[in-house]
Amino acid sequence: MTRAQHAVKGEARPRRLAPVITARTVAKRCTATARSGERCKSAPLHGKKLCALHTPGTASILGQRGGRRRAVFNPDGLEPFPPPKDVNDLLRLVMQTVVEVRSAKIDTKTATAIFYGCGVGRSILETADLDARIKILEERHESAERERARVN
Ligand SMILES: [Zn+2]
Repeated sequence: MTRAQHAVKGEARPRRLAPVITARTVAKRCTATARSGERCKSAPLHGKKLCALHTPGTASILGQRGGRRRAVFNPDGLEPFPPPKDVNDLLRLVMQTVVEVRSAKIDTKTATAIFYGCGVGRSILETADLDARIKILEERHESAERERARVN
């Protein structure tokens, strides 16, 4: 019975079971032995006997690519920025970072951290701004109360 037929009958979808390893599926697996000593469970590359990781040379290429992607970026090419003090500073930092991402001067992981930090900074600035405004209103209210008490 298909999933759709189960759905029509209102039955719960059957749980997906672990793949059954038969002689046929074994033949479709990579023939290399994993470091654990077991046979590799990955599917071989199309028309090959080995998976992508066990094909000689492929793993080192993948490692190099990953390594390059994860390499620590060089901050020398970046626009120097003092710590942002207000929303305008945050805006300039965000926009500059966008430009640097586009020109590949900064990696996206670092840029994401900067964007996140700018978001946190914005919330803090907003809260500080509201606090300052409330304090001014409270002081005005208190002085008005004092004035009223003096007149009466
Ligand atoms: Zn393999």
